[in-house]
Amino acid sequence: MYDIAVMNGIVIDPKNRRLTAANVYCRDGKIAEISREIRESAKVINAGGRYVSPGFIDIHAHIEGKKRCGALLCQQGVTTAVNGNCGNGLDDYPGFFRAMDKSGFIINQVELSGASTLRQKAGQLDRYAPMTAAQIDIANGLLQEELQAGTAGLSFGLEYMPGTDREELYTLSRTAARYGKPVTVHIRCDLSPGLDALVEVIELSRFTGAGVQVSHAAYQFGFGMMRQALDIIDNAVSEGLDVSCDSGMYTSFGTRIGSAVFDDGCLENWHCSYDAIVMPAGKYAGQRLDRESFEDLRKNFPHDTAIVLIGAPAEIPMAFELPYMMVGSDAGGDASDTLGAVHPQDAATFPRFIRQMVVEQKKLTLIDAVSRMTILPAQRMGLSKKGCLSPGNDADITVFDLAAIRDNAVFPHQGRMDALPDGICAVVVNGKAVIEDKRIINDTAGKICYSPNNTCYRSSSFL
Ligand SMILES: [Zn+2]
Repeated sequence: MYDIAVMNGIVIDPKNRRLTAANVYCRDGKIAEISREIRESAKVINAGGRYVSPGFIDIHAHIEGKKRCGALLCQQGVTTAVNGNCGNGLDDYPGFFRAMDKSGFIINQVELSGASTLRQKAGQLDRYAPMTAAQIDIANGLLQEELQAGTAGLSFGLEYMPGTDREELYTLSRTAARYGKPVTVHIRCDLSPGLDALVEVIELSRFTGAGVQVSHAAYQFGFGMMRQALDIIDNAVSEGLDVSCDSGMYTSFGTRIGSAVFDDGCLENWHCSYDAIVMPAGKYAGQRLDRESFEDLRKNFPHDTAIVLIGAPAEIPMAFELPYMMVGSDAGGDASDTLGAVHPQDAATFPRFIRQMVVEQKKLTLIDAVSRMTILPAQRMGLSKKGCLSPGNDADITVFDLAAIRDNAVFPHQGRMDALPDGICAVVVNGKAVIEDKRIINDTAGKICYSPNNTCYRSSSFL
């Protein structure tokens, strides 16, 4: 007798690049059997000829236990989120892990240590100033404690911490590399200075040996710079450097209006005016800004998220020409349980990726697309029991209808940012049915993925 069975589906195996008509049986949170046999099971999900995929892994998220954000991600078919990106870590990992272990969460969570948080804990509160040698020592000690407690790597948000110098970058990255953990980097600039900023992190990999994951390519290079950026990354990988990358499905990004991103000169750099900025919530919710409202928000509501409508969306599919370009939503950044979504990416990224790349533009085969959301991020993050449905692996499963898959969330001046996608039929997390027909039926099945001893794959293995 099995706990749960997903019957009559087409099982996607991104590791062996195979599609097989089969039933998937789970017991005690693990995949127990994949076969055409009919077995008894306490709970049955009928996939009815639809695709049965390993649960999607979001390699770039900011969920950190926020219920509403976790639910929106799960509604996209995501069963594991890699949190703590862009330098934004947590103050107390053991405390967070204990709290999540106790309460459970809708999806599994992986936590990265955040360099911005470490530098604040080490006493450097000025984002424009470098850390002193003594502060770097403190931050480095804290990083080791966090990695031992179970964080899965290190993240930098260099654009938010312009004062970060080479000493800080290299010292902390060397520590992550010594632990065999990747370093994810939101690079120092976007637009054309972004290419120099990209070279900075490729050199980082060269001189520290760290596995560098370049974050959200569409946000950094989707302004006419994508082709050059991809060439730089690909040359580095061909040379043997351990560099890989992820991208979302938008070039219009959202971030706190008080952050360094909106410092003087930003509009000139972006070649846009104030009305390219739209607010998802707060005093000017749903509105485009002008100089007066922009200055009001910068001064009085610096923590509010603003979305900049910008970029060349046609460059997004180009990003996925790199076979190791993974999918990351960037969801949850400044969202909260009260705000819900603050960008359509929070509710749309994964279905949008499948619809645009596989169904509409036919740029990727289904198996290739699924591998960017399953086996590749699992290997990069050292999640050895995830990313592929094989006996003994974690029973994280997403059932979707390729013909029906569609994202419905839009920007705040257009409608709802949290509109649920179509085509995600069922989601199973650790062997428990979590979503069926868009209804959440369990929001505590997800676990924290501690990974002190897991092996993270080098980017060369993805070729
Ligand atoms: Zn970022």
